[in-house]
Amino acid sequence: MKRRVYFDHNATTPLAPEVWQAMGEVVSNFGNPSSIHAFGREVKVALESAREKVAHFIGARPSEIIFTSGGTEADNLALFGVAHAFAHRGRHIIISQIEHHAVLESAHQLEKQGFEVTRLASTREGIVLPEELMKALRPDTILVSIMAANNETGTIQPIAELAKIARERGVLFHTDAVQIAGKRPINVAELGVDLLSISAHKLYGPKGVGALWVRRGVKLNPILVGGGHEQNRRAGTENFISIIGFARACELAVARMETDEKKFLALSEKLQAGLKEKVEDFRINGSLERRLPNTLNISFPGLDGEAIIVGLDMEGVAVASGSACTSGATEPSHVLVALGLSEREALGSIRVSLGRDNTEEDVDYFLAVLPPIVERLKALSKEVVEAK
Ligand SMILES: *Cc1c(COP(=O)(O)O)cnc(C)c1O
Repeated sequence: MKRRVYFDHNATTPLAPEVWQAMGEVVSNFGNPSSIHAFGREVKVALESAREKVAHFIGARPSEIIFTSGGTEADNLALFGVAHAFAHRGRHIIISQIEHHAVLESAHQLEKQGFEVTRLASTREGIVLPEELMKALRPDTILVSIMAANNETGTIQPIAELAKIARERGVLFHTDAVQIAGKRPINVAELGVDLLSISAHKLYGPKGVGALWVRRGVKLNPILVGGGHEQNRRAGTENFISIIGFARACELAVARMETDEKKFLALSEKLQAGLKEKVEDFRINGSLERRLPNTLNISFPGLDGEAIIVGLDMEGVAVASGSACTSGATEPSHVLVALGLSEREALGSIRVSLGRDNTEEDVDYFLAVLPPIVERLKALSKEVVEAK
């Protein structure tokens, strides 16, 4: 029986029913939170209560939360905001080679503006080593930005250790926590970072809303200017209804985290065991120990990842290749290349990212439809080789 199976939760997640219910309850509250009349004040009260919930989710103060249009804007604001506020002190920024495009492209723009960017390599396991950061820091370094968990491989970075090194040198540390948020507990004090990005639609909240947390006292230049919203750090009337959903999604994530993690571990083990049994030739990319339990990046040597995805899609199964932002273009994933995979190996990989609503039956179905696709593609590539 054909099913529809969604295994692409690192690209986006469905809205949790509790989230759309919370949003539904406020859809008619149209007041502008900046207005002083009752219409505005009512919305303002709810907005600030949502801010408290989002702050609580990461162990921060509400006044340190800047609502943004998502993870991309939060990353842009962190890099441009710090770079422009601290340019008088230095013009050197450190990121890693495996960052999301939102950080990579922000850094690239800053280079065009005269900043210097060092891109740290990762190990074959996908880890950015603290000693590499130590070596890269310079007297003119003003910011380090390294992601907490990678969207393609799920690899978790030693953020507390990395941030401590930057801190001891008086350098600000930003982390893109978009993928780890909702999957592992986050506490900004324990991490010891100065800025942190999150996005609602990766944790069963609505699209188009996120937040940048900025430690109290850290100077930041706005990238959007206009009114004095978000304490003069992000102009524009707040996306109120989505923010209400975002806050509910954060509360829910905390309540669900342990149950979700147990489920991911069980499903992921089942999936790997099934692959071992039914598809001999495959490899899991990135560390198996330091990894988000919902994410499996799998290489099939000699095969084309895009062809596997199309084959799976025809059977109703949704998985990704590389990161969603680059699919369509058949370029190898910059993350897998940074891990040391050859272009061919990188092109032969798919990403399975599990979610809250996935079931054992979903995994069974995947394990039933994948092997024939792999066999078909193997036969095809053999024919091509023989024809040569
Ligand atoms: C999805 C994602 C982003 C971008 O977030 P949007 O809300 O889609 O703009 C940034 N970083 C990482 C690691 C992501 O996975």
